[in-house]
Amino acid sequence: MILFRNAAAIVTSATGAVLRDADLLVEGPEIRAIGPGLETPGAEVIDATGWFLYPGLVNTHHHFFQTFVRNRVDLDWTRLSVIQWLDTIYPIFARLTEECFYHSSLTAMAELIKHGCTTAFDHQYNFPRHAGTRIVDRQFEAAAKLGLRFHAGRGGNTLPKSEGSTIPDEMRESTDEFIADCARLIDSYHDTSRFSMRQVVVAPCQPVNSYRETFIESVRLARDKGVFLHTHVGEGESPVMAARHGLRTVDYLEEIGFAGPDTFYAHCWELTPGEIRALAASGTGVAHCPEPVYLVGAEITDIPAMVAEGVRVSLGVDGTASNDNGSLMHCVHSAYMLQCLAAKSRAHPVPVPAEFLRMATEGGASCLGRADIGRLAPGMAADLFAIDTRRMDYVGTRHDPQSLIPKVGVGMAVDLTMINGRVVWAKGEFPGLDEAQMAAEAEAVLNATLT
Ligand SMILES: [Zn+2]
Repeated sequence: MILFRNAAAIVTSATGAVLRDADLLVEGPEIRAIGPGLETPGAEVIDATGWFLYPGLVNTHHHFFQTFVRNRVDLDWTRLSVIQWLDTIYPIFARLTEECFYHSSLTAMAELIKHGCTTAFDHQYNFPRHAGTRIVDRQFEAAAKLGLRFHAGRGGNTLPKSEGSTIPDEMRESTDEFIADCARLIDSYHDTSRFSMRQVVVAPCQPVNSYRETFIESVRLARDKGVFLHTHVGEGESPVMAARHGLRTVDYLEEIGFAGPDTFYAHCWELTPGEIRALAASGTGVAHCPEPVYLVGAEITDIPAMVAEGVRVSLGVDGTASNDNGSLMHCVHSAYMLQCLAAKSRAHPVPVPAEFLRMATEGGASCLGRADIGRLAPGMAADLFAIDTRRMDYVGTRHDPQSLIPKVGVGMAVDLTMINGRVVWAKGEFPGLDEAQMAAEAEAVLNATLT
């Protein structure tokens, strides 16, 4: 058992109770008790004096493999058309090897954990033929090494360039190949038990780059196996979809059945009010990624309307090809700021700051179908992070722990991250792992492949 003693604040949920000067007891993978003055003989005691404890963040959209194209000014969206960007970046993606996928995933996961993320979904849609068949398997290996709770989205693209796809043909699969590998991964890894550390999501990359049949078969497989569905929606592709199929993307997916409480879409920045209502009616979730909106110069996602209509909204960092920063903590702040920028033009008010922390915790848990994460309470998974607020950074901010992250922003690594009852990051280290060595190995693989 582990006892966090005398925390300055325990944020039990983003919009729920905040306990001051309280303790939190962990036994095995779960939280046993929260309250003042817990007496637990024999428990390992962690002094939490001055700390704020939060439920772990839940990331619902990422492309880990893109971690190796960070900080490339030559790839800035502001200097390139979409076609130029695709023509520059996809040849790089097509060169990635299995080792690249493993080490870029490890790098992305480490960044997430350092910044308080305890559960992450990744949308892996890049399967160059030369990279073999074990890319997602290696991602599960990386997650196990760091102790991250991991939901793997098995993506894919089936439409050839000659029929309008923007994806190079060397990264393309047939629908049968895609569905067969989804089924293999589900049978090998998908665990529905309480406190599950690994799940699989069927996630064809985006409707414009796959055949309709791919989405139909994805729905069939996911419903048959009882797993979730995910894809990209509302990134400006709807006019193309309307010209090609006579339906904008949301209607197209709804007609196929690729919608519902077991489905969540990334982005959704160009949705009409009617499409937002359709998502609310079907119970389909949204993984809002604020930072690409800035980088791409996209239409600002109407989060106030989504919240007002009752759409389940979560937050994602997106791949680092369209967000060089892979910290979800950072995105909680930028999501709030982005909506403030558009506030004057909205029909609905910007949600209060704490609502953005809720999106990154309970919102994410809801989109991933997890009832056991997202809040701190007895019986919930012991997924949490701690910030030592006895620093100059926090003077004058400590009166409102729930607004601190969205309104002020927390840039530095957190002081401790616990996942499933295990301390996976503390005192600037990954216990039992050599960070400098992991970084050097990742850098060596990157240099050997991409430079
Ligand atoms: Zn994406």
